[in-house]
Amino acid sequence: MQAEQLPEEQLPGVDEPGSAQVVPVVQSEELWFSDGNIIIRSLPSGAPPIRAVYKVHRSILSLHCSAFAALFEGPKDEAFIAGSEHYEKLPLMDLPDDAEDLRHFLKALYFHEGLHIHTSVPLFERWRAPFPPSYPGILRLATKYDASKVRRILVDALQAQWPARLAAYDGMNNGMNKSVDEGPSFREDFPSDPGRAIRLATDFDIPDVLPFAYYALARLIASPELSKIKPGELTHLTPNELNVLILGVADLRVQTNRIISSTQGWTSKCQQDLVYDDEAEDDVSPCEHSLEQWVERQHALESCCGDPLAWLKVMSMLCMDIEDVCETCRVYVRTDVLVDARNRLWKTLPAVFGLVRCS
Ligand SMILES: [Zn+2]
Repeated sequence: MQAEQLPEEQLPGVDEPGSAQVVPVVQSEELWFSDGNIIIRSLPSGAPPIRAVYKVHRSILSLHCSAFAALFEGPKDEAFIAGSEHYEKLPLMDLPDDAEDLRHFLKALYFHEGLHIHTSVPLFERWRAPFPPSYPGILRLATKYDASKVRRILVDALQAQWPARLAAYDGMNNGMNKSVDEGPSFREDFPSDPGRAIRLATDFDIPDVLPFAYYALARLIASPELSKIKPGELTHLTPNELNVLILGVADLRVQTNRIISSTQGWTSKCQQDLVYDDEAEDDVSPCEHSLEQWVERQHALESCCGDPLAWLKVMSMLCMDIEDVCETCRVYVRTDVLVDARNRLWKTLPAVFGLVRCS
């Protein structure tokens, strides 16, 4: 950290209970205001461990965090000062937090630009930008000390990265500067770090983020994309969450198979004369058999893709070229059937990944 170690004779509280080790106390350079009126001291953290101290303002802490406002309010402030250990004649407050988390959090209160590292990246590049490593610590302390505005900014950033609405996901994907020459692709861009997003959203109660983040991770483990998983990506998940993920992958295949087996309804607008089908033992549209075969061919491609949302989108691009299917059926499949299937699939994601809370 950017800090300077205090001379040993000035170290406040270096004796760690139960430990023979003396943990050095390090004064923050960037969060040591000459007119500060409170000293905050972190837990021992890092390797080798240090305790960091920050000289900040009770008014700034109160302004942003209702937890501190309650502590420093009126007569309570006097009681707090009177009851505190002192350093440089200022009250010293121990916070049970990691030094780096505290540094990021206090910096966020004083220098707001740190909160916008991610959202200041151009929209279409944001998905490829790693989620800032400072965000988890800030989010943790903003939640803990009830810094609602700070928390709101980071929650918004996470929700923008992992949209809850399919239209928002499509809008982001359409703008990812794809080469026109690439043609329809079964691979779409996804935001980076889905495992970390799941951890943050679960730990800090941001449920809107979870369905799409789980889907993105499921896509990675369901297919040759596995090689694209970053080292440690899955370590963000608990054993139970990994179990949910694996069951979700299987359920996505069930959902996809359901779509494949529903082609009978895809010719409901067909204007052509029906013909008798021996297998169905009924009169059916002459387009039905061709559609069925086409979908099976497309599914064979999907089976090595593991991304049914992309698969359905690509099918809607290709379906105007299906042979032996009338124009009415092609248009209906494109504008109604596949769009509807995709919307329904998106809506099932919370259930697929066990995120539907029992009331
Ligand atoms: Zn037809």
